[in-house]
Amino acid sequence: MSLLVIGTMAFDAIETPFAKVDSIIGGAATFITLSASFFVQPVNLVAVIGYDYPQETVDDLVRRGVNIEGLQRKTDQKSFFWAGKYHNDLNTRDTVATELNVLADFDPVLPDSYQGTPFVLLGNLTPSVQMQVIERMKDRPQLIAMDTMNFWMDIALDSLLETIEKVDLLTINDEEARQLTGEFSLIKAGKKILTMGPKYAVIKKGEHGALLFYEDQVFVAPALPLEEVFDPTGAGDSFAGGMMGYLARQGEVTFDNLKNAIIYGSTLASFCVEDFGPRRLLTLTKDEIRQRYLAFQQISAYNQTLI
Ligand code: AMP
Repeated sequence: MSLLVIGTMAFDAIETPFAKVDSIIGGAATFITLSASFFVQPVNLVAVIGYDYPQETVDDLVRRGVNIEGLQRKTDQKSFFWAGKYHNDLNTRDTVATELNVLADFDPVLPDSYQGTPFVLLGNLTPSVQMQVIERMKDRPQLIAMDTMNFWMDIALDSLLETIEKVDLLTINDEEARQLTGEFSLIKAGKKILTMGPKYAVIKKGEHGALLFYEDQVFVAPALPLEEVFDPTGAGDSFAGGMMGYLARQGEVTFDNLKNAIIYGSTLASFCVEDFGPRRLLTLTKDEIRQRYLAFQQISAYNQTLI
């Protein structure tokens, strides 16, 4: 089944404790589409880029089964730009700059061929634009998932809350879940998100894995114990792309499918952090994904022995 994705396509400047890069392609939709395309095709992309976003990357996405009918290029403006600096733990970061550029007046276009897409992932971008996508889908998709970040909580909380109310699944990182709900406990935060509209909530905890909430159940997914994390940028988006790519491939949303989906999401995220920006995703193969997916079970499997 197909997947519709919206999100930023950007240039990033990234500083980690080990290295620095002034300009590399990034943006939520770049990571999401690359990750999701391993699972499902077409991935129907809705996004806006400026004159500076490389055509080779767009061509590469097309070769990977991404439908770009809904991708707009503004030839007189720059692409979205984000600069971030990671702390020593690599789990937390400061946003140093956010320049909306083309995103400032983005009016998302949903081509007719995208209508009827059963799975929708509203990647990180302006909440009112995420809402427009929901409104412009003529039929209610089977599953609408949404990702967001603190930037939008700070500047557009009301419209963010209105959009959250309309979606089925929210993915959010731990720090942002605390900010959104006012709860320090992530278990309380997850449960509170389920009272805000979504039926499912996924709280991403970086190198500590992810929590999936559904009704009164919680599923805990580990993160792979990697010796080296090079650059966490895009890990959350790769997670969301892998998760939704898998669900769209399966075509059915059950709690069991969701558990597998977040293991695939964690798998994609674990690759993403191995190099700057989306570089590692560009060389990734399906075989590597399969092997690492299996490794996830190994790290927490044990024979039960009751005392
Ligand atoms: P992640 O590390 O998964 O949270 O995503 C990092 C990506 O999100 C970067 O490539 C940025 O270009 C993009 N990004 C940063 N800030 C925003 C924002 N406010 N809205 C949308 N995308 C953003």
